[in-house]
Amino acid sequence: MLYVKNISFSYKKTPVLKAISFKANQGEHVSIIGESGSGKSTLLKLLYGTYDLEEGQIFWKGEEILGPKHNLIIGPEFMKYVAQEFDLMPFITVSENIGAFLSNFYPEEKQARINELLDVVELKPFAKTKVKELSGGQKQRVALARAIAKQPEVILLDEPFSHIDNFKKQSLRRSLFKYLKEKNITCIVATHDKDDVLSFSDYMIVLHNTKMIANNTPKDLYNNPENKLIASFFDEFNEIDGKIVYANRLKVVATSNLKAIAKQSYYKGYYYLIEAYLNGETIFFEHKKMIEKNTEIYLLIEK
Ligand code: ADP
Ligand code: MG
Repeated sequence: MLYVKNISFSYKKTPVLKAISFKANQGEHVSIIGESGSGKSTLLKLLYGTYDLEEGQIFWKGEEILGPKHNLIIGPEFMKYVAQEFDLMPFITVSENIGAFLSNFYPEEKQARINELLDVVELKPFAKTKVKELSGGQKQRVALARAIAKQPEVILLDEPFSHIDNFKKQSLRRSLFKYLKEKNITCIVATHDKDDVLSFSDYMIVLHNTKMIANNTPKDLYNNPENKLIASFFDEFNEIDGKIVYANRLKVVATSNLKAIAKQSYYKGYYYLIEAYLNGETIFFEHKKMIEKNTEIYLLIEK
């Protein structure tokens, strides 16, 4: 189990993280979310032992993860960390990069393992390409494959798909997260993409103003977003009578006590997002068709 016990940290005088505590069991997938600058990357670096903590402790299976004051080499053996900026060897091939830390003692097993990893990150066609000739997204995939090459017990991923285009992102995400679950690798992911979280995370941790303001399952937080920050992470939402209501929970009905005036329809593929006025406030709801400007409609909040 990963046990983060009441940790606090600052680079200079301003605190970045204060009194953060959470646990993650072997094989669990935990997401860390929060606005840019909320300390997601810092938290991952602390888990890796990159800096000395100001307060608190971090344990993996009862063994303390210590910072540079106590270690010559940063990063425990059983952990891998994939930074936002990845650090590859540009002049050798994709296969050589992925296999860089694998033993040369069993060349056939090594090649089989490299092939398996190339499949996970969908880079087979680039096996023999030099890394310097790859796009940013392809490099990110090499970095991911290299991190899982030696089967760490824990993997720390900092916005792992940020450089990967939408064409590849969905399938790569499924493939990587499925692989980590199958191998029972604990995975901590910093992200601002709800699609990294909803289908894959056992828990999500929300950072805001140096604090951990939530730690719950994505389902619980989606259904009961405790505040606007959490709701905004998931979806377009409104505040109606002091309650948070997602745009997809508002339905147009024949009549109701919520009378609104449509202002603008945004095409979203299988639906339109309608901007409307309700009691002088701008609200949004989802609708199958576009709605003519200034049409009066009645809305119902679905449970
Ligand atoms: P996030 O990953 O959520 O965007 P970071 O962990 O990168 O946030 O940054 C958290 C805060 O710490 C920010 O205010 C950032 O400016 C500051 N910070 C990050 N890295 C350093 C550093 N090496 N030295 C000083 N301040 C830093
Ligand atoms: Mg970051």
